[in-house]
Formats: sequence, C-alpha cells, structure tokens
Amino acid sequence: MHVQGQNRDQGTLFPERLDDLIAEDNAVRVIDAFVDSLDLKALSFARIETKGTGRPPYHPGDLLKLYLYGYMYRIRSCRRLERECHKNIEVLWLLNRLAPDFKTIANFRVDNRKALLNVCAAFVQFCRSQSLYGGDTVAIDGSKFAADNAPSRVLRKKDLAKELKRLDAKIAAWLDDLDDDDEDEPPGGDNTKAALEALEAERDSLTEQIQSLDAKRLAVQPATDPDARVMKHHKIGYNVQTSVDAKHHLIVDVDVVQSPVDQDQLYRMARRSQRQLREKQLRVLADAGYSSGRHLRRCQAHGLTPYVPVNRSINNRGDGRLFDKSAFTYDADGDYFKCPAGERLPKKTKSTKDRLYLYTTAACTGCQLKEQCTQGKQRWVSRHFEEDVLNQVAARTDANPLMMRRRKAMVEHPFGTLKRRMDGGRFLLRGLQKVKAEMALAVTAYNLTRAINVLGTKRLVQALAT
Ligand code: SF4
Repeated sequence: MHVQGQNRDQGTLFPERLDDLIAEDNAVRVIDAFVDSLDLKALSFARIETKGTGRPPYHPGDLLKLYLYGYMYRIRSCRRLERECHKNIEVLWLLNRLAPDFKTIANFRVDNRKALLNVCAAFVQFCRSQSLYGGDTVAIDGSKFAADNAPSRVLRKKDLAKELKRLDAKIAAWLDDLDDDDEDEPPGGDNTKAALEALEAERDSLTEQIQSLDAKRLAVQPATDPDARVMKHHKIGYNVQTSVDAKHHLIVDVDVVQSPVDQDQLYRMARRSQRQLREKQLRVLADAGYSSGRHLRRCQAHGLTPYVPVNRSINNRGDGRLFDKSAFTYDADGDYFKCPAGERLPKKTKSTKDRLYLYTTAACTGCQLKEQCTQGKQRWVSRHFEEDVLNQVAARTDANPLMMRRRKAMVEHPFGTLKRRMDGGRFLLRGLQKVKAEMALAVTAYNLTRAINVLGTKRLVQALAT
C-alpha cells in the first residue's frame, strides 16, 4: 500500500484558515511585514490617496508585495503573477485573496519606477539598522544583462546610409523621367506624385534616424529597446553595476548603465555606497576593468581606499629587447627621467586623450645605446597624469593578494542569484528607467532572501514590526 492523501470530498468540522497554511518561518511573512513597515507615500508611490468616486484602485502595498514575491520566486511576468493570485496559497495569503488583472500589475511596475528604487534603498537602511552590513569593505562589479531586443533588430548607421543613397538615386531617376516628359502632368498623374512624396518621406525618416544616431555618437542602435546598447560579443543589453558588502554579501547599491565598459563607474558607485552605508571610510575592491587614474584619485580624496589591479600599457616594440621603462628613473623634483646612458629626458608634451605626459631627449641621435633603446628617432617615455596614485594603488593591491580573492567571492554570489532569478539575466521591460526599476525589485528580493538566511524569518518579522 502506498502513502494515501486526504479525500478531496472530506469535510472539516472547523473551516481551515488561510493563515494556518502559511508556516511561521515562511518568507512571505517577511515580505508582508517589510511592505507594511514602509511609508509608501514618502517613497513616492502613486495612488496612495483614493478618490471618492469611481472604481477604487488596488493599494500599492498589495501590488508591491506581489512583485517582491514574484522576483523572489522567479515569477516576473505580469500574466504569470495574475495566475499566481488565483492558485498560489502563499500569494492568496499575502494579498488577502486579491486578484488584480495583469494590466493593473504591469502598470504598477511602470508607474512606480522611482518608488521601487526607494524601496530598494529603504531595505538597505533597515538592514543597516540591524547591523547586517559591516560597512568597512565593499566590492564593486558589473555584469551584462540582456535587453528585451532580438539581436537582429538593430539600426546600423552604415545600412541606413546605404539605403539613403539608394533612395536618393531612385528619387533622382523619377525626377529625371518627369523632366523628360513635355506634358504638364507627369505620367501616372496623382499616383506618380503620391509615390514620389512617399519616397521623399522615407528619405526624411532615414535622414532623421542617421542624425539621431550621430547625436548619440552611435554606429548601431537597438530598434526594440533604443536605450539598450551593443555590449561585448555583440550582445544587446545593459551593464548592471552593484556594490556588495563584505559581512553577509548583501547588496549595498545597484545601478544600470548604458556604457559597456566599467572604467568610468568606480568613483560614482563607491561614493553612492559610502552614502548608503553612511561611512566616512570604506575599502573598495574592484577588478582591473575599473582601473582609472582619475577615478582612483577621486576615491582616495574622499575617504575611499581602492584595491584595484592597475592596468599599464606595455611597450612591446623591439620584441622586448629594448630597455624597459623601469630602466629609466624619474626625478620628481626636476620632473625628468634619467636614461641608462645618464641623459636627462625632460617633459616635452602630453596626450590628453591617454592622460600621459611624454618625455624625450635630443641626445638619442648620437647615443651608443640607441639600438638597445629605441627603433625610432628618439626614445619617448611616458608618465601618467595620476602616476603617483596608480603606483600607490598598485603597491597596496599587490601587497594584499587576499583582497582580490575576497572580491571574487563577494560579487559572484549576488550576480549568480540575480541572473538565475532573472532567467539567465534578461530584462522584461524596455527603457533605461524601467530596467532600473526592474533591477531594484530583483535586488530588494535578493537582499530579503539574504536577510532571512542570516537573521531568520521570525527575528526579521519582529524587527520589521518594531
Ligand atoms: S637612446 Fe636616448 S634615451 Fe636611450 S639611452 Fe640613449 S640617450 Fe638615453
């Protein structure tokens, strides 16, 4: 005999309460307590006040609970959330059996973009009040998330220009035909005129699209989600930046940017994390993609101590047989380099684009070591605008190899979880502001799970209720 279930037709003496079906340590109790603890009006949610007339709206708190539940359990689409409202006991409990339709659910996420970012920050502040953040070390990292845009649906400037050229030739040919015709009316009459006007309208639209790409300095723009960008390996998406605290790997801050590279994100993300954690001093760990002299300098000036492997350009001319830059000693007082032949190389010029000062000497022309030194007319040695800061950060990072291992362990867990919950890292919404709201929901759900794992449901619910 197998294990037997209860008879479906079996009646009960006392009807079961929905609350009896939700265990004391169920995560929905935390979602419920967290949303109930929020001042939704202060967080800028729409439709807090109801009008005296018309159909009453759903309370934003109920819809927020539904979304947090969905992002925690990989149910992100509004149609799927609508279905869960009818059949999922946890959702029935969480929403007091409310069952909004998918349109209402979808509109809520779009209408409350800013408020959802505020909710994410509010949970960070709650976790901070519970000492869940260490507040001394954060790791910053970026990861690419796919946009809701098929790879083939892109506008390419070169294709548009080709199409424009083809249209110009076609219009010119039509006009030539009209000129050749001696009659007052063109052959085909109004039809010809209308066709010409349609071609000209198409040309204007193409010109506008090219001008728009030029204004954004883009060669390729996604057509379905124009805010998305072409990332590495031709993938279309966004660059998600997070900072993660060392203590329990809770996310401190998140942002979504269009730039495919991380190089310009370090200072901004570090400062935002510093403000969220309300700390004056913070150690910041990041990979070599964040190596930027300007950012490192600004971090150091604001109480942030970066641990970042510094990227250096390597002079690989002469198959490595030429003197390495380390053979040249820099004199800070005189601002010159001394070369292996004992000559001084004073500062000659600079490259603002590469942020480098360049040093050289005319003595190279008659130098006996020239063959070992340069293949050009004279040897040039460069010094970065922020050379001192780069040296400091490189020395600090090299002296603490454990920091880089720690960084990896800190950032991998959150991104792994976020991507798993978001179907391998795919946004459902389109547009930068909307994907930011989507990511805020995902991060709040991630932090809720982490906080439950660390404190436990009961303690968390108690803390949220006080
Ligand atoms: S080639 Fe120029 S830089 Fe090189 S060792 Fe000779 S003088 Fe110095």
